[in-house]
Amino acid sequence: MSSTEGAPRGVIPAHLLKGQKALVTGANSGIGKATAIGLGRAGADVVVNYVAGAEEAEKVVAEIASFGVRAAAYEADVSQEDQVVAMMDRMVQEFGTIDILVANAGLQRDAPFEEMTLAQWQKVLDVNLTGQFLCAREATKEFLRRGVVPEVSRAAGKIICMSSVHQVIPWAGHANYASSKGGIHMLMTTLAQELAPKKIRVNAIAPGAIKTPINQSAWETAEAREDLLRLIPYERIGDPEDIAYAAVALASDLLDYVVGTTLFVDGGMTLYPGFATGG
Ligand code: NAD
Repeated sequence: MSSTEGAPRGVIPAHLLKGQKALVTGANSGIGKATAIGLGRAGADVVVNYVAGAEEAEKVVAEIASFGVRAAAYEADVSQEDQVVAMMDRMVQEFGTIDILVANAGLQRDAPFEEMTLAQWQKVLDVNLTGQFLCAREATKEFLRRGVVPEVSRAAGKIICMSSVHQVIPWAGHANYASSKGGIHMLMTTLAQELAPKKIRVNAIAPGAIKTPINQSAWETAEAREDLLRLIPYERIGDPEDIAYAAVALASDLLDYVVGTTLFVDGGMTLYPGFATGG
């Protein structure tokens, strides 16, 4: 079967998220960038959070603004409480409120376990897990203050946590990263349970292998690509847009009854492909 990479697919309905205000963290690169653009295409006004790379963030803002919605780039380190609080205050001041949070910012600091420094461990936990805690908490305060506005959405707010297939697949050499994603799973489900009665929908997306700078070494050479494809039953590496489409759907009222779910967007990576021929 030839690859379906790059083949055409549908388009995002331009009014799906009309009038909603979205914040995407780590939105000047990779998955966050595609998701911010996807939400803008769907009619949302979007805050593009970044920690470094203002120029790229402004390019994302310009692309989103070209859809006729509002966009702005806010600098904040999601692992720093004062910066997250200030970012949310500014969003409420300038955009009026927040309806959708995509807690996406994340990074890797890989090392064999016996060599992993406390700094490497801490950095990954601080950004990937504590960052999601802080952003989700601040967004929740605003969701609760404002409540449901039926003309805008059935929910008082939507939180989408960017997890990974490594919330379930152990990953040698990445103990810090896999632990952070396992933590996100319990953070997400606990928040979903706690906040559902308050009409806040919390869900996660678990991407498989998506072509972004975070994992460039896994797909940039033909050899690495071949190795990677062996782990993917659907036999294609994902694009950032694969995740953006999932985020747009999860944020919309079309999926209003989806609460506390992790949507795996991984081409079947979590299906134990080694067992297709073995076992
Ligand atoms: P990326 O490196 O392209 O993007 C990560 C973004 O997070 C960047 O914009 C970076 O600047 C930002 N960031 C890092 N630290 C930050 C901080 N302290 N504050 C604010 N922003 C910060 O990588 P990506 O692949 O787009 O990753 C996005 C998310 O998707 C991450 O949570 C990652 O773990 C997850 N993910 C990616 C893959 C993949 O295959 N690419 C697979 C599973 C999960």
